[in-house]
Amino acid sequence: MKLTFLGTGTSTGVPTLGCHCKVCTSSDPRDKRLRPSVGLEYDGRFVVIDTSPDFREQAMRERIERLDAVVFTHDHVDHVFGLDDVRVFYFRQKVPIPIYADRRTMQSIRRIYQHIFDQTYPYGGIAKLDPHVIEGPFEVWGMTMTPLPVWHGNLPVLGFRFGRAAYVTDFSTIPDSTLALLEGLDVLILDALRHQPHPSHSTLEQSLALVEKLKPRRAFFTHIAHELGHAETNALLPPHVRLAYDGLKLDLKEEGAPSPPSPAAG
Ligand SMILES: [Zn+2]
Ligand SMILES: [Zn+2]
Repeated sequence: MKLTFLGTGTSTGVPTLGCHCKVCTSSDPRDKRLRPSVGLEYDGRFVVIDTSPDFREQAMRERIERLDAVVFTHDHVDHVFGLDDVRVFYFRQKVPIPIYADRRTMQSIRRIYQHIFDQTYPYGGIAKLDPHVIEGPFEVWGMTMTPLPVWHGNLPVLGFRFGRAAYVTDFSTIPDSTLALLEGLDVLILDALRHQPHPSHSTLEQSLALVEKLKPRRAFFTHIAHELGHAETNALLPPHVRLAYDGLKLDLKEEGAPSPPSPAAG
């Protein structure tokens, strides 16, 4: 399985509109961050976790030519508002696109995209979606995904474990019952917004402490704000922990092989 970071930025994206800080004006392409999402490619399928408002741009950049499912972490705008753009894949593939979300998130998606679910939009050109409410581990085209309940401030949201990798964006605390599901990982992807504490996001230091506790082979941080420059932040981190960047790809098949992790992500 190949995992692609479609976007690694916080909700505003980086650069932040109108901001002239060092990171927002950086010429390092790894400091340009679209809104957070990852793509998973396996068995000829392409599945995304969240459809960010930048989904269309991400799909163009990565030359995504099909979409087989969308799995949602939660209903915040930066994770949902690209869903309309999946319609071109429905037109081409001619089968409703499965979407997976917890009950509360699915209710929000049905409200936001009421015209899609009602199928009464008189102007045509809309997707058909096939909604599935997540109530426990589920299969997406033969891959088992285990939901990882975490707290995003006072909002219960989901991360996901698939094989020996896990993606946990948008959290501030992880309950013990979920920490138990994050053991024995090859790749752990965590929210790491900035250095300063935030009520609904993990900081670089908090996520690093989690990595030290959970001991994955490698860890990548995402949902990154403009306070963290790519190169200077990576210099603070141990070699098996890196900031992710847009377009970074991980070959999850190689995980578990005895060879040392590649330093390429630096
Ligand atoms: Zn977010
Ligand atoms: Zn959020």
